[in-house]
Amino acid sequence: MSSERPLLVIEPATEQRDFRTEQLDADLVIVGGGLAGTCAAITAARAGIRVVLVQDRPVLGGNASSEVRLWALGATAQLSNNNRWSREGGVIDEILVENLFRNPEGNAVVVDTVLLEKVVSEPNITLLLNTAAVGVTKDGADIASVTAFCSQNSTRYELTAPLFCDASGDGVLGFLAGAAYRMGAESREEFGELFAPEEEFGALLGHSIYFYTKDVGVPVAFTPPGYALDDVTAIPRWRSFSTAEQGCRLWWIEYGGRLDTVHDTEAIKWELWKVVYGVWNHLKNSGRFPEAETLTLEWVGLIPGKRESRRFEGLYMLRQQDLVEQRPHDDAVGSGGWSIDLHPADGVFSEYAGSHHLHARGVYQVPYRCLVSRDVGNLFLAGRIISVTHVAFASTRVMVTSAHLGQAVGMAAAACVRDGVAPAQLTEPDRMRALQLDLLRTGQHIPGHRLDDPDDLARRARLSASSSFALSSLPGDGPAAPLDTSLAQLLPVPAGPVPQLGLTVDVAAPTTLRVELRTGNRPDDYTPDVVLASREFPLTPGPGQRLKLDLDTDVDEPRYVFLTLLRNEHVAVHTTLTRVTGLMSVRHRSTQEADPAVGRPRVEFWTPERRPGGHNLAVTADPPLRAWEVDSLVDGHARPTSHPNAWLAAVGDPAPSATLRWDSPQTIARVELTFDTDPDHPMETVLWGHLERTTPSCVRDYRLRVGDTVVAERSGNHQTRDTVTFDPPLVTDHLAVDVLAGHGSGPAAVVQLRCH
Ligand SMILES: Cc1cc2nc3c(=O)[nH]c(=O)nc-3n(C[C@H](O)[C@H](O)[C@H](O)COP(=O)(O)OP(=O)(O)OC[C@H]3O[C@@H](n4cnc5c(N)ncnc54)[C@H](O)[C@@H]3O)c2cc1C
Repeated sequence: MSSERPLLVIEPATEQRDFRTEQLDADLVIVGGGLAGTCAAITAARAGIRVVLVQDRPVLGGNASSEVRLWALGATAQLSNNNRWSREGGVIDEILVENLFRNPEGNAVVVDTVLLEKVVSEPNITLLLNTAAVGVTKDGADIASVTAFCSQNSTRYELTAPLFCDASGDGVLGFLAGAAYRMGAESREEFGELFAPEEEFGALLGHSIYFYTKDVGVPVAFTPPGYALDDVTAIPRWRSFSTAEQGCRLWWIEYGGRLDTVHDTEAIKWELWKVVYGVWNHLKNSGRFPEAETLTLEWVGLIPGKRESRRFEGLYMLRQQDLVEQRPHDDAVGSGGWSIDLHPADGVFSEYAGSHHLHARGVYQVPYRCLVSRDVGNLFLAGRIISVTHVAFASTRVMVTSAHLGQAVGMAAAACVRDGVAPAQLTEPDRMRALQLDLLRTGQHIPGHRLDDPDDLARRARLSASSSFALSSLPGDGPAAPLDTSLAQLLPVPAGPVPQLGLTVDVAAPTTLRVELRTGNRPDDYTPDVVLASREFPLTPGPGQRLKLDLDTDVDEPRYVFLTLLRNEHVAVHTTLTRVTGLMSVRHRSTQEADPAVGRPRVEFWTPERRPGGHNLAVTADPPLRAWEVDSLVDGHARPTSHPNAWLAAVGDPAPSATLRWDSPQTIARVELTFDTDPDHPMETVLWGHLERTTPSCVRDYRLRVGDTVVAERSGNHQTRDTVTFDPPLVTDHLAVDVLAGHGSGPAAVVQLRCH
């Protein structure tokens, strides 16, 4: 066996030594491999540019990694608000869907492997793990290079590129490069933000550390370390401690909001460890928790999860009004939808509740200008450091939103390299439209935008289908749903008279049922507070009573309406087991009352039950609702908006198939398909424990066919997007997609079909 190294190396003494240095040149250097940096890197690499991704820790994911173990969230917000079908799309969607498939239990180590696999399978990415960016050189207003150091291989890296992205959470790159930043909370006056906190509440959100426990089935003793908190009554919520809470459900173990959350992080960590071990000591040894006897500590966070430190000033600072009023921006490249979620600076020691929420009616757009440093010409901002006020940050900071906007940075960087322009120049209208188009092509959801792709051959085709689903009646084979809270069925209706709708109810005692047809204030607004029509039905006891609703009304344009049954303790309504893309029932869970003093609007929250729970109501419609026609494949929308925007074959179609025909032969190198992975479904990455690992309405097996010739066949798909490439390209004047199987018992949907 030969080795390149001699058996012994003897280095003579010398004055001094330096680390080995490697020079790497790329198109884009990204510092920070949290979800924002990771998704920026993958998007940029797939768009064809060379990326160096520098991550100071052993795995990717930042707060979503196994080191911190937070579940990644975004606009779906665990179904707590009215952001229907709002999952973000693009690379982060692919990651979430893959993680759900491989890891429905939410094992944080598996999340690491999903992220690492995605990155190392991109040939355009050079990944430097355990490597911290520690220095910057400048060339005028631009960054010229970044110095980074890897403690594992004792190597210093000199990284050069025309473009840089700071996704480091603390903004180390922007800080070193001298970019303008802020830390703390803006006054109410500066941006007119009424929700801006006062001194007593505090200006910064703190860090958190938490623990996992395990029941080993035999008694386990616990001796606390000397630094554990002695007196847990210093924590105002100590009486509500529970052995059932672990992992990121312990988010409230928070501290440090009155300190320097960059430079005091080590001190904050010690305080958090003190609290964690004090809480655990109380659970184990206070005698109040007999069930804790066989529990042991499985894991305690070694680094704190950071919520907030620096925010950098970009070309625009997003603010409360942008979120609450859902203001449109010409340069929108993504969206957010988490509530404005401020925490008291004293964290676990505060008398205030752990978080204060302010919800908008729905999702809001985020402009590209928030992602570009105002003063360092070649610096992009990604993750929690983007250009937003403290109040807006309280919403944009969550990781799926960060990842989504990171994707916009990755694509923008590719556009800058391709066109030889600086990041700020992409704000020019033509360039911005091109960027938005590139993002939409990769599945990025930008609310209010549709993919209007002039190069898509499918849009020039005539479409036909073996059949299309039409809602005339849904079988009443589901469990009867009691009206212990008000319940509504979302229905996509065309412009004009609303069809005659019907329902079946069981009635336990004489009563009057109130039925309302409601809608939102826009066709794609899902807060149903506009009442279009209403009726009251005097009912006598008896099961299975058919109600013809006679809600005689018109709608001005195609939109979702909510067939709303108001709370009635004597009535239950029949439901169906049939799941249909773009249909769902929702319940009135709570109402956010208006508080003009802080800019809080009144919002009724009507939200679905999480799958596999929740059922559509067994409604009838006359004439049938025909909202699942084959033309939906090319309407430019990849999810329900004011319409389901998906093609669905009729229930019972033995061979569902959609066909594209052109007047002359087309040369097709690539067919891109989008399937329904239920963009309403939150996909918490860790701890949650999901009951389904695939989406019932997602296509599993399909084939592409020209006449009788199968030109591509796929099986086992569970992803939102799939691409079939033809080399050499296919030359044909027709092409069919046959849906062979879905993941559920109902019809599987094809949402988008694109040919290039
Ligand atoms: C306790 C807690 C609860 C939260 N709850 C949620 C939640 O439920 N869901 C949710 O989505 N969000 C939640 N958040 C918010 C969210 O985790 C953060 O806002 C988010 O991580 C920001 O993403 P990021 O990519 O900017 O930063 P990070 O996830 O922190 O990633 C930045 C990465 O950059 C690396 N880095 C830093 N400095 C350097 C350097 N010099 N060189 C190289 N790499 C560097 C870091 O190690 C890190 O891995 C919570 C945060 C905390 C702390």
